[in-house]
Amino acid sequence: MSVDTLTPPQAGAAQPVLAMRQDFVRLGAEFHSTSPPQGLPQPRLRVLSADAAALLGLALPQHDDARRSWAELFSGNQAARDASAISTVYAGHQFGNWAGQLGDGRAHLLGEARSRDARQAMGHAWWEVQIKGAGPTPFSRRGDGRAVLRSSIREFLCSEAMHALGVPTTRALCLVDSELPVRRESLETAAVVTRLSPSFLRFGHFEHFSHGGRHDALRRLVDYTVARLYPAAADSANPALALLREVVAATAPTIARWQCVGFVHGVMNTDNMSMLGWTIDYGPFGFLDAFDPGYTPNTTDSWGRYAWARQPAVARWNLLALAQALLPLIGDEQAARDAVEDFADAFMVEMDRGMQAKLGLRADDPAASLETDRDLVQDWLDLLAACRADWTLSHRLLARVVELPEAPPPVQWLRQFDAWPQRAADWLARLRARQHGLDAAARAERARDMLRSNPCYVLRHHLGQQAIAQARDGDFSAVLRLHRVLRMPFDEQPGCEDLAAAPPPDAGPPVLSCSS
Ligand code: AMP
Ligand code: MG
Repeated sequence: MSVDTLTPPQAGAAQPVLAMRQDFVRLGAEFHSTSPPQGLPQPRLRVLSADAAALLGLALPQHDDARRSWAELFSGNQAARDASAISTVYAGHQFGNWAGQLGDGRAHLLGEARSRDARQAMGHAWWEVQIKGAGPTPFSRRGDGRAVLRSSIREFLCSEAMHALGVPTTRALCLVDSELPVRRESLETAAVVTRLSPSFLRFGHFEHFSHGGRHDALRRLVDYTVARLYPAAADSANPALALLREVVAATAPTIARWQCVGFVHGVMNTDNMSMLGWTIDYGPFGFLDAFDPGYTPNTTDSWGRYAWARQPAVARWNLLALAQALLPLIGDEQAARDAVEDFADAFMVEMDRGMQAKLGLRADDPAASLETDRDLVQDWLDLLAACRADWTLSHRLLARVVELPEAPPPVQWLRQFDAWPQRAADWLARLRARQHGLDAAARAERARDMLRSNPCYVLRHHLGQQAIAQARDGDFSAVLRLHRVLRMPFDEQPGCEDLAAAPPPDAGPPVLSCSS
């Protein structure tokens, strides 16, 4: 296939769905395999994101023929017939250990499509279109190349929910499923999620060529990445160092936003770290319910290596692994180290800003001081942890506490602190002292801002599990409802109170294995 021109629609295809080019092959044969996917038998288009479709200027399928064309393309069935899809090779550190070669074991890159929505595209003109679960690749190792319905639903919903929360993330275009049986702990069925990102390059791509001593290939990969993702770094005397700095700077705000929305990735291996600094590869992720800084949703992570509180330190560790991989090109170990050490400050700036916004604190307030605010934030986190208060509710309801300082706090807020009511009252008194001097109008405005920083709805574990249970019985209405509501996570939506509530006591622990 030609590299730079858009592929015309397949001859005989019922409906041209999406024009794509395959740019990655330009890098050379050692970076990818062209073995086609197997696709899915009798694929069914189950869920699609209108927002993600708009990003590519894709018309939504309105009638059965169009839906069939989508299902054929986004199941991998069309790519099974034309030899255009590729899978890429990468390596990685998993749970702190070198894992050697991994690669796209169940992902196929269909190509790249031009973005058509500047607001969503964030300056990236071309977006890779990748299907996950369409069958084995040369990098599958012992895996079957498949993804089960439950993990595909979670990835679809969370990708789009994170985008709506303002967290940098790969996107999900649609989910196609099938009756094809897939063996996990029990027999399940297969699904394919189509993901969109300007690039699916991971730290592990660079580690693969660096650890193999293939510095020429490493240089080509750096040049490609700089040209595609960070063109400003091309003018640097040391592009590999400039690239590292860019990735450090891009990763810091993403991790700070994870912390602020209470997202725990669960598997922060270097092969799951995006060169864009975006959230990638939704596996056993979770959102905080009752606050526990040591929470990890991943049952295989018995040491809590990737727990909520450890995510910033792990991000730095992973950036060091990337720096190590780039060192043969950077040439200056101290400079590489310094570039990674910038992470701490960049993260703290974002984290301070994020937590201040959540608590309704502004740098230009009469009683503002960064020191005071940091103490207030730390004591708030300690209070939430001591009371195992619900992360999302405790923050969301705080807006009302700030807006009406004379009124008693909402009962639902107070209930979060049943274990330590006096401690909560003392902390609240300090928050009010910090906000002293704001008039009623300023308080109302502050409360509105807080509602834009503290979501009402996140993809709580129990909600995802309920929707998955129904979908397995063929009823996708709960999945569609979650997708619709999580599109506007900061807006209270009538009739959706159940989606804003903490999990019921019998919901079970919000944990999962890596099986997907
Ligand atoms: P993950 O933990 O999902 O990030 O995956 C780690 C590695 O295992 C990646 O190289 C994946 O492509 C691969 N992998 C995970 N599940 C499968 C599967 N069912 N079949 C083939 N490869 C897989
Ligand atoms: Mg992965």
